[in-house]
Amino acid sequence: TEFISANDLASLMDVSVNEVIKVCMQLGMFVSINQRLDAEAITIIADEFGYDVEFMTSEEEQALEEMQEENEEDLEERAPIVTIMGHVDHGKTSLLDYIRNANVTAGEAGGITQHIGAYKVKTESGRTVTFLDTPGHEAFTAMRARGAKVTDVVIIVVAADDSVMPQTKEAINHAQAAGSPIIIALNKIDKPGANPDKVREELSQMNILVEEWGGKYQSQEVSAKTGQGIPDLLEKVLLEAELLELKANPNRQAIGTVIEASLDKGRGYVATMLVQTGTLHIGDIVLAGSHYGRVKAMTDHRGRKMKEAGPSTPVQLLGLDGAPQAGDKFLVMESEREAREIASNRSQMQREQSLRTRKHITLDEIGRRL
Ligand code: GDP
Ligand code: MG
Repeated sequence: TEFISANDLASLMDVSVNEVIKVCMQLGMFVSINQRLDAEAITIIADEFGYDVEFMTSEEEQALEEMQEENEEDLEERAPIVTIMGHVDHGKTSLLDYIRNANVTAGEAGGITQHIGAYKVKTESGRTVTFLDTPGHEAFTAMRARGAKVTDVVIIVVAADDSVMPQTKEAINHAQAAGSPIIIALNKIDKPGANPDKVREELSQMNILVEEWGGKYQSQEVSAKTGQGIPDLLEKVLLEAELLELKANPNRQAIGTVIEASLDKGRGYVATMLVQTGTLHIGDIVLAGSHYGRVKAMTDHRGRKMKEAGPSTPVQLLGLDGAPQAGDKFLVMESEREAREIASNRSQMQREQSLRTRKHITLDEIGRRL
């Protein structure tokens, strides 16, 4: 079987495709940019760049296949999952905080906001949007490199009193490589020195032409300080999401991705999981990377207890026997024994691999990778 193209492999390893092609030539393999590579070639090339390759177990693949091969009639609309990316100090954290704190309905007040790496809010129009709140875009890149397609829409934030910066470009490149639609947030519009047209101009120079200028990219002037424009930004996210026709089957066993996980002194292992399809329940047996466990408790980002979590819902979960890695897939299994076996096989493999202290990437078949 052929897995991914030389180009995709290059972006997984964060090197240029030319470097990959060059290395291939040195190895006596002649590949073109879009040529798909088989397992052997991928392993050899990755090795040259210092990576070990992990091919996903067939069971995980099967679950993911099922996830994609749902019957149309079982599918229901789900909330878009959004990542905010951009240059340092352009206002990513401020925007995320503003949105998290502003979109609290009366009934929700009281809960103490916790940083769990993801949250879900209701917009003024009554629809929901899920935000990944992972530090910077390193996490996004890491997750992507680990094979997780999580984000539906990327908001690129650019400070309107500043310029398109190297990390802005990098963020745009990452979003484009992942095939995620982009919305531009022109932040700090409240500042006297704000010049959003200058930023639009700079963006146009990198082929990001905003709608107001006849292009295809939605943009919105916002202030994370005053909140100006933020409801409009959320509506634009929803508009983008509508085009994507995001759907999932809530009536099946949950599949999703680990956002972050750690050991909490009082509570044991705590993992933020994003359910992508199906519904996760208390008592479910979860296999996540090389860990497993029965779901003991679930809470949202306000620390409120949850009994179940449907598609596009992030939860903080208690009950795993360890901390899986950000970007690990999780799935619900019928048999606890089987989950334990797979988890233990994987830890074994990981131990062996870490002995060799190598960098590591995960690949599955093309199309499911990003
Ligand atoms: P990040 O590095 O992208 O996460 O940026 P931060 O959210 O930490 O913001 C960097 C600085 O800009 C902080 O001092 C914020 O208070 C400030 N800031 C962010 N957004 C706005 C805004 O819309 N208006 C103004 N005046 N300041 C902002
Ligand atoms: Mg920040």
